[in-house]
Amino acid sequence: MKIHDRFFINGQWSSPATTRVHEIRNPATDEVCATVPLANEADCVHAIESARAAFPAWSVTSASERGDFINQAADELMKRADDLADAITQTMGCPRHICPNLQVLGSIQAFRAYADRAKTMEQSEQRKGVQILKEPVGVCTLITPWNYPLSILIGKAAPALAAGCTMIAKPAEQTPLQDFIVAEVFEKIGLPNGVFNLLTGIGPEVGPVLCGHSEIDMVSFTGSTRAGVQITESAAPTIKRVCLELGGKSPLVITEDADIDAAVRYGVQNVMMNTGQTCSALTRMLVAESRYEEAISLAKHVAEQNIVGDPLDPKTTMGPLSSASQKSTVVDYIRKGIAEGARLVTGGAEMPEGLTHGAYLPPTIFADVNNQMSIAQEEIFGPVLCMIPFRDENHGIELANETVYGLSSAVFAKDQDSALALARRIKAGQCFVQGANFTTDAPFGGYKRSGNGREWGEEGITEFIEIKAVLGQ
Ligand code: ADP
Repeated sequence: MKIHDRFFINGQWSSPATTRVHEIRNPATDEVCATVPLANEADCVHAIESARAAFPAWSVTSASERGDFINQAADELMKRADDLADAITQTMGCPRHICPNLQVLGSIQAFRAYADRAKTMEQSEQRKGVQILKEPVGVCTLITPWNYPLSILIGKAAPALAAGCTMIAKPAEQTPLQDFIVAEVFEKIGLPNGVFNLLTGIGPEVGPVLCGHSEIDMVSFTGSTRAGVQITESAAPTIKRVCLELGGKSPLVITEDADIDAAVRYGVQNVMMNTGQTCSALTRMLVAESRYEEAISLAKHVAEQNIVGDPLDPKTTMGPLSSASQKSTVVDYIRKGIAEGARLVTGGAEMPEGLTHGAYLPPTIFADVNNQMSIAQEEIFGPVLCMIPFRDENHGIELANETVYGLSSAVFAKDQDSALALARRIKAGQCFVQGANFTTDAPFGGYKRSGNGREWGEEGITEFIEIKAVLGQ
């Protein structure tokens, strides 16, 4: 059992103000696997003051100096890749053999990409007597969720470091362990004191301080729309920049003349990945009605190929939900779907066969879903796919956009050009055509209530930049 009893503040392992601790449970066993301290207001203020004190010197380091720290950190994180994967598997249940590729290695490579992107900070633009400069926004609060706990931390910390910002990281209650490894890495490479600070705490308790304090300049948050609203409210009185990556109910549009086999396989695998706990998951499969029944039987077949079970078993393809409480949220939605009249094609709210305890659920597919049902409109965050038929392409696009969210989307059509034409009509920050893969080189973020910023890619750094125009030369 891992016991952490200190925060990382100002380059030191610092004792918390109180003795309150938080127990973390392994969702596969229901057993406590770690404890971390809980921050109070004094701890938050300590971390904020440390980040503020570090900002003047860090913000004027050269891009190449910051790039060197980023590369060194990436090297050290790579050496800790097994520890990182162990931590993530233990706390949120991602199968251990899948975890390095899904949760760890790509994120570390993506971190490295920001060593180069730091250089864009030194490129000023001259426009008819106006010089455009880029400056770091300041002290940032980074609040992360439990589904991809390392990747999402890196997606914020890497551009923040590259831009010359200092920061306080606050991981999700359920999954703080990888953040401690990241702090150990920054300590090891000698990142200047106070540039990266880590504390653990209960979101609604520490949020008002971490997001409302006058010495915080910017908040970058990934998580639920509910928490995003609260964070925005905390930040509003001091007019902070708030960048939000929130929920989704993303559509996959499959036209009549698409390769139905490839499309359905892609869609089902996308939804079941990480036990359905991906904010950009394609949870609404919209299928031309002439191919609908065929798509349903294919989807059932692909979903049932999953092996749900112990994350430490190399045969497992789907681990438990990340916590007992997440499982109970998903169970409620599955029951609601049945009550709303959707047809349960496979799965359901019962524990999969052969399992007796742990936060497990089977891959679940609903057919005969209409887009007004709550299972089609609300983010479930579990292994649940809704299949909805459409009459023609206009109707398909109408359904795709008929949601308060707009994070991701995908299209399978006859060919690339037809798919692209449909992609342009979908209101979402990303659209994957003809089976494309995720890449951290592409900007990621949402339209509508899915958020308001862009992470990753070249654009990821812009959240952490202030633009200054110098006039009169
Ligand atoms: P979930 O409901 O699935 O746990 P949340 O959006 O609540 O997802 O959690 C994501 C992150 O947001 C976590 O780090 C959590 O501690 C944090 N959080 C939750 N509520 C608030 C809040 N009011 N202010 C700041 N952070 C919060």
